[in-house]
Amino acid sequence: MMEGDVLPQRTSKDLPGLIEKYAALLAEYMPVVMGEGDNRAELFMIGEAPGKMEIEKGRPFVGAAGKNLDEFLEFVGLERKDIYITNAVKFRPVKKSPDTGRLSNRAPAKKEIELFRPLLMDEIDLVGPSLIITLGNTPLFSLVGKDIKIGAVHGKLMEFEGKRLYPLYHPASIIYRRELRDVYMEDLTNLKKLLAH
Ligand code: URA
Repeated sequence: MMEGDVLPQRTSKDLPGLIEKYAALLAEYMPVVMGEGDNRAELFMIGEAPGKMEIEKGRPFVGAAGKNLDEFLEFVGLERKDIYITNAVKFRPVKKSPDTGRLSNRAPAKKEIELFRPLLMDEIDLVGPSLIITLGNTPLFSLVGKDIKIGAVHGKLMEFEGKRLYPLYHPASIIYRRELRDVYMEDLTNLKKLLAH
């Protein structure tokens, strides 16, 4: 940029622009849930994939995991409107029970994560955060690749393309793994300190 140039202002057209760019991919996986929040946020949070409730409401993190996430945000002194929140994969990956025929959530396959990676990278570029928080293994894999597991790096400040990356366990994982609760709270306490600087 030349001295005196005015910084380009992002507008609400940004997300529609992204939807347009990835229209073919998104059409193939409809219904999808896109990211939301402050599209100039310093903090960019990435979950795994939408669940049933998220698909119904068309918004990320509005089901049970969303309740945990809201508690976590309150603990660190943030509100949803202050951050940008999205998922590594924009559709709901499901498996069907052979007995009942009922659908339940499953973790996204590596191929699915890779398919949605360019969209996530563009989303990060668009928002331009200084801190990225990944929730669980899926977004960590999307950003960093295969060899890192959340159990080894949770709560450790890392770097991703010049931005700070702070991996956390997924808020839903503390629902079914109670023993993670203390570790999770410690990671959140450290995040609170990080946000204060
Ligand atoms: N809801 C989301 O939007 N993402 C998750 O990772 C879990 C629940």
